[in-house]
Amino acid sequence: MGNEKNKFETNAIRTQLNRTENLEHSVPLYLTSSFVFEDAEDMRASFAEEKQRNVYSRYSNPNSSEFIEKVCQMEGAEAGYAFASGMSAVFSTFAALLDSGDHIVSARSVFGSTHSLFTNFLPKWNIEHSYFKVDEVEKISQLIRPNTKILYAETPTNPGVDVLDMEALADIAKKHNLTFIVDNCFASPYLQQPIKSGADLVIHSGTKLMDGQGRVLAGITVGSSELIDKIYRFSRITGPSLSPFNAWVLSKSLETLSVRVDRHCENALKLAEYLEGHAKVNWVKYPFLKSHPQYEIAKKQMKAGGCVVAFEVKGGLAAGQKFFDSIQMLSLSANLGDTRSIVTHPASTTHSKLTTEERSETGITDGMVRVSVGLEHVDDIIRDIEQALG
Ligand SMILES: *Cc1c(COP(=O)(O)O)cnc(C)c1O
Repeated sequence: MGNEKNKFETNAIRTQLNRTENLEHSVPLYLTSSFVFEDAEDMRASFAEEKQRNVYSRYSNPNSSEFIEKVCQMEGAEAGYAFASGMSAVFSTFAALLDSGDHIVSARSVFGSTHSLFTNFLPKWNIEHSYFKVDEVEKISQLIRPNTKILYAETPTNPGVDVLDMEALADIAKKHNLTFIVDNCFASPYLQQPIKSGADLVIHSGTKLMDGQGRVLAGITVGSSELIDKIYRFSRITGPSLSPFNAWVLSKSLETLSVRVDRHCENALKLAEYLEGHAKVNWVKYPFLKSHPQYEIAKKQMKAGGCVVAFEVKGGLAAGQKFFDSIQMLSLSANLGDTRSIVTHPASTTHSKLTTEERSETGITDGMVRVSVGLEHVDDIIRDIEQALG
């Protein structure tokens, strides 16, 4: 479908299913649960997997295949499988690759539901995990046991926007024969390609920057054909597949990924620079600010800083909540990577059940605010934040 000579932007637009006899310009939606066979022999050969063809949309569907193909090109991956949500991608990837008794080493700063999966659910199948802090990569080797199978990380992290050195993690994984998996949702494949830094598998929540317009839930895992085959075999039986409709929406969204993400990053950097000098702000964290603790790593592995800016309002929890209540235009919502800018206050919402110490381990302080910077005019975004700080 794609062309290796073409650049990212071109493949995002020109990778598409073959035209039908109707010669449509825009790819049609294959809203069908199953596909028909020519005859008994065709059906036999298809079920025996002697033929590569669509059989049932739990296994594959043309719209999902187009979406997968695009993401594989963007990430430099051999194969992929598309899921109904980012979390079904995370869960199915672990479930397909791990056995009872296995162990995961992961950065402590992971998406809340991933943390819950590690802590509350995987132990049911006797799968354990150990966490390392984002700034203690040198301690990872001490956590690795004979039964460790996976090294897992997100970069940049949510909501602390810390950056992990993917090449350094890949080296550790290689040395200990671990499968290195990166959740690349915060950066999108436009800003960084973990496989080029040595990752074995890349996971995305398509819900965030990929859709980018807050409409559909989706997830995807891409990587080597060998690993993806295991994930595919597990998933086609257990049924977390992406709906063709959502795949169709997402494949269209990817056509505009590069222009959207460019503007997200431009707006986010301007907001971060504005906040850095503000009298009511203790600190600002954004990967492409020189003051970011992992600025050099971010520059090495990312094309730009992403859409999320974190900062701390002076005055702790109460000040954070007051800021939140004073916001007028920006949305108070839990999503990110949307055209609409979104603010969240992790200490009183998504991470309120953690103790202050547990929160600080994930990079969250009481006055911390996370902004997913959208595509409104940056002057209007800054004006709303300015009046709320006032
Ligand atoms: C949102 C998110 C997920 C989960 O994706 P859903 O589509 O909401 O299931 C996983 N990882 C990260 C980093 C996320 O931000």
